[in-house]
Amino acid sequence: MTDSTFTLTEAERLPAAERDAILANPGFGDHFTDHMVSIIWTAADGWHDAQVLPYGPIAMDPASSVLHYGQEIFEGMKAYRRADDSIVIFRPEENARRLNESAVRLALPELPVELFVEATKRLVEIDSEWVPRGADQSLYLRPFMIADESFLGVRAAQRARFMVIASPAGPYFTGGVKPVSIWLSQDFARAGHGGTGAAKCGGNYAASLLPQNVAAENGCQQVLFTDAGNPDVIDELGGMNLFLVRADKTLLTPALNGNILPGITRKSLIQLAEDRGYAVEERAVTVTEWREGVADGSIVEAFACGTAAVITPIGQLKSPDFTIDFGDKAPGELTLSLREELTGIQYGTHEDRHGWLTEIPTAGVAA
Ligand SMILES: *Cc1c(COP(=O)(O)O)cnc(C)c1O
Repeated sequence: MTDSTFTLTEAERLPAAERDAILANPGFGDHFTDHMVSIIWTAADGWHDAQVLPYGPIAMDPASSVLHYGQEIFEGMKAYRRADDSIVIFRPEENARRLNESAVRLALPELPVELFVEATKRLVEIDSEWVPRGADQSLYLRPFMIADESFLGVRAAQRARFMVIASPAGPYFTGGVKPVSIWLSQDFARAGHGGTGAAKCGGNYAASLLPQNVAAENGCQQVLFTDAGNPDVIDELGGMNLFLVRADKTLLTPALNGNILPGITRKSLIQLAEDRGYAVEERAVTVTEWREGVADGSIVEAFACGTAAVITPIGQLKSPDFTIDFGDKAPGELTLSLREELTGIQYGTHEDRHGWLTEIPTAGVAA
């Protein structure tokens, strides 16, 4: 059963001058819009009580299952404002489908795709003035689902809550796209065979924070995780997928082997590269292959990709034993041109030939 009727409780909005001051320099994840979406699920009644309501704290029982056994999944997507002032979201059905794949793995209920898309559209619509107008800015959307039954027994919860919150985001790179250094995590894995690596769940992120600290101590911005059973086989970064580029413009990326998060940016870039006639090899990729390829000149670029940064060029891979360095500190040519094309589609300067954008109706919404 699903009751998808939304009720609306209007928030008292942040005054426009204060909102504009935030939008001038939003950072990432620091500020939230005036409203949020909440939908309740119970085993008995299915999804119901869909609400758009003022953003704010939620009451939770201390015995709520998410607080004890970590049944939580999330999504990350963005709304973009185009030059003609229209607002679009990028491939929301893909996020909806992925949320459901994560839900299955975490024994949470699946949410109808249309309800997910409707929830995100409604939030962007009512808070459309929070979609920034500056270059490379966007409104980051964070749909998530938690198990919310007051019960300490160990079993899948009989009650869950789906929410969407939104946060204005500034450019990921200030002062131009710059290559990052990444740390090869040898002591810690993020996923093992049969684990939750392919699910977008908070628990994977909790496990990645200590290695992230180790990376920072070694002067790196991100962590590269390898297969738990074979430290030469590359999985992905803590929150981004990885690509290597060969001199002949062939792209290499680890195949979705059950340990890797199926990124929507990854999928979109594979499509754009294939549209250009480049070969994309999805298969097991190793650190040894990367090292040897850079040494003999056959691998010329590396980048990470995800919704937050779109594409991040990788300048260096460091480990206690060796460093793979691309030498010159400029981002790769193909890396930059794919980034340009994908962001161009999102901001409306390139044609959306695959129908990836969902337009948000904004007419008549009070600012
Ligand atoms: C979200 C995420 C990605 C990137 O996915 P996109 O859909 O491209 O944003 C990659 N890896 C992990 C572990 C993630 O959680």
